[in-house]
Amino acid sequence: MSEPAPARLPMPLGQGVTFARLLQQARRLQMHHAVLIEGQQGTGKSTVADWLAAALLCRSELDPDTPCGICRDCRRVAAGQHPDVHVIARAADEQQVEEFGGSVHVIRIDQVRAVQVALGRAAVEGRARVVVIRDAHTMEEETQNALLKTLEEPGPDTFLVVETAKPEQMLPTIRSRAQRLGVRPLDDATLRAELRRRLPTAGNLHERAIALAGGSLGRALQACTEQAVRLHDLVSAMLAGNNPLRAVATARAALEGATGRTQAVAQARLFLALLAAELRLRLQRHLAAAGDCAYVAGHPEPWSTLLEHTLAAHQDLDLRIPPDQVLTACLLQYDAAP
Ligand SMILES: [Zn+2]
Repeated sequence: MSEPAPARLPMPLGQGVTFARLLQQARRLQMHHAVLIEGQQGTGKSTVADWLAAALLCRSELDPDTPCGICRDCRRVAAGQHPDVHVIARAADEQQVEEFGGSVHVIRIDQVRAVQVALGRAAVEGRARVVVIRDAHTMEEETQNALLKTLEEPGPDTFLVVETAKPEQMLPTIRSRAQRLGVRPLDDATLRAELRRRLPTAGNLHERAIALAGGSLGRALQACTEQAVRLHDLVSAMLAGNNPLRAVATARAALEGATGRTQAVAQARLFLALLAAELRLRLQRHLAAAGDCAYVAGHPEPWSTLLEHTLAAHQDLDLRIPPDQVLTACLLQYDAAP
């Protein structure tokens, strides 16, 4: 079931000089042996990590300061099929758990050990070997401790690229041994240009998508699909309070058309993401209206509480709770809100 290799590896947008310098060092195999990539969910940490891995592996002489993105090495990184790249990640969904084992919640210690064994056994095939760890904060303490061994003695031409949205959950011993790189959210102009380039026919959706994206290109693109527009209309109607549907019916409408659990979970995630984005916008507007005054007397702010419920529901979807139950329980909070 190998998918066709993408034509090129996507280049991260809008990153700064620290990243440019890291890339130069990576191209010369002079990068620090461990880099900790930090940034919120959806800011493109994986795009940055893969580009860095490609910088270590790319053999093209097109540009000495950055990977070419189109050679065999770069395209194999893009396809997740480079023999010198070892990716350690949680399972994406329960289907993957059933197929390959693992967990949707944590990176398990045996995943780290398996890569360590592979590193010990095989020699470097190309220029270097790269271990990429996605959502590294989902490693429990014992697992992070097991990883320390590789951080301390990575072996020749072996590099660790570690992504996390929660660096505070990483062991200090790991943080102190890695060079840290913060991934920046994209500004509106960059998002606008990128949406125009990628989705020229959906121009009427761009501004709304940018407002909902919070600096994430992935979220902006996601907000431009037909389904996202339908779900966002549902969110808007619900928040405007002119929706006659109550929680159960709204949840049902949000999951309309989904066949099978995987699809229903994906649709529920999108609905909750759009809902959270709307709540964040309202919260921002409210804070701006309140000016310097942090507390508006006699005016309880329901949006932040609802946002918390919404984010918690997102996490519940990782458990084996049916998506319609997760949505209904979450939306009942909205019915109860003033
Ligand atoms: Zn290349």
